Amino acid sequence: MSYIVAHETAAPFRRVGGSSDSASAIGLRAQQPGSVKAFTGLRLIDGTDRAAIANATVVVRDGRIVAAGSGVAVPTGAQSIALAGKTVIPGLINAHGHVNVPDRDLKTYAAYGVTTVFSLGGTDEASWMGLRDAQATPSLARARMFLAGPVLAPNTPAEARDQVAKNQALKVDVIKIRVDDNLATTPKMKPDIYRAVIDEAHKRGMRVAVHVFYLEDAKGALDAGADFIAHSVRDQAVSPAFVSLLKSRGVCLCPTLMREVSTFVYESTPDFFSDPFFLKHADMQQVNTLKQPAQQEAMRKSPAAQRYKVALDVASRNLKTLVDSGVMIAMGTDTGGLLGAEGARLDGEGRHDAAAGSRRGHPRCGALHEARSGPRDARARQVGRLRRPRRRSARRYREHEKDQRRVYRGKSGGQIADWIIE
Ligand SMILES: [Zn+2]
Repeated sequence: MSYIVAHETAAPFRRVGGSSDSASAIGLRAQQPGSVKAFTGLRLIDGTDRAAIANATVVVRDGRIVAAGSGVAVPTGAQSIALAGKTVIPGLINAHGHVNVPDRDLKTYAAYGVTTVFSLGGTDEASWMGLRDAQATPSLARARMFLAGPVLAPNTPAEARDQVAKNQALKVDVIKIRVDDNLATTPKMKPDIYRAVIDEAHKRGMRVAVHVFYLEDAKGALDAGADFIAHSVRDQAVSPAFVSLLKSRGVCLCPTLMREVSTFVYESTPDFFSDPFFLKHADMQQVNTLKQPAQQEAMRKSPAAQRYKVALDVASRNLKTLVDSGVMIAMGTDTGGLLGAEGARLDGEGRHDAAAGSRRGHPRCGALHEARSGPRDARARQVGRLRRPRRRSARRYREHEKDQRRVYRGKSGGQIADWIIE
């Protein structure tokens, strides 16, 4: 397995000239040569559920995809890059990850095809806002990150409101709280506290991601207006009431199955420890530690590890229920902790989704941006899958379908070209 990230990001939206409907007249003629790249002869997976397109061309202008499909002509003056035998997919969005060492971790995420990561909380994040703000550049050579900042841990409703205000002053992208007792070992945030957090965040126009373990808390958080459920329900089967609440509120759930796996997978030496691609990006000091017999023995004897093994079964069954019910699911690895080996968990996450009988999480990642950002946030429309035109935006997009011939046109700029070549 090897990936190259075709990572050409984030020039500001600009209008593309031209108004012809034909696939060959894609409005690029007026552009300077060199600002346009055409990737040709590739297999295109557009991030929807539709079949891959053989022998496709993707045209990128100033870092944005302006046309993609099998009937797309290479514009005059474009730099042409032949990708025969390669597959291009949308960059993956890790909806719940963590970043510890930004430069190292964001490059690792990118190597695994993750071009956007929501780092859901950590004290160091307060000092990374500048890095986040500097990432809208066509030469970005890492995944872009969005930040929750310090995870709130207030003891009173007044403190809750104060901490929300402080994180807003830091310019975080989302508020993160934990409602959990860590297998009955720590006090759990009370409902009046998390209600105050959510209420204050909403008053300030911010969204709240909630760490949960128990169904009761997930339901309570949703009732209070939570915008994102950052883990699986892991204590019991999800209830029909919970499912319909997720659906009616349009809230996205992030299963983070690999978080549970990571609590017990190092009981022995896992297969991926001999995967060359994994080893290329892994922190070998951590890998060697996790190979030590004493370390593995301790994990085998850990009651928490055994408890989370059971939790993974519950979470996997719940994922199937949620997917079958049409709840929005976002891929998330919760990586950045134990091993810092983002790709290992990412890879496994996909497999576990499949094992749960669900669709793989990856093609649905774009849903997170839609779920969390809402239509007012321009970012929501700039990354992820190439979408079938909606009725409201049909004037801006044209699509032609005939024998896998699909052409997407973005008159107002197109999707950011975070595409991955396998
Ligand atoms: Zn986390």
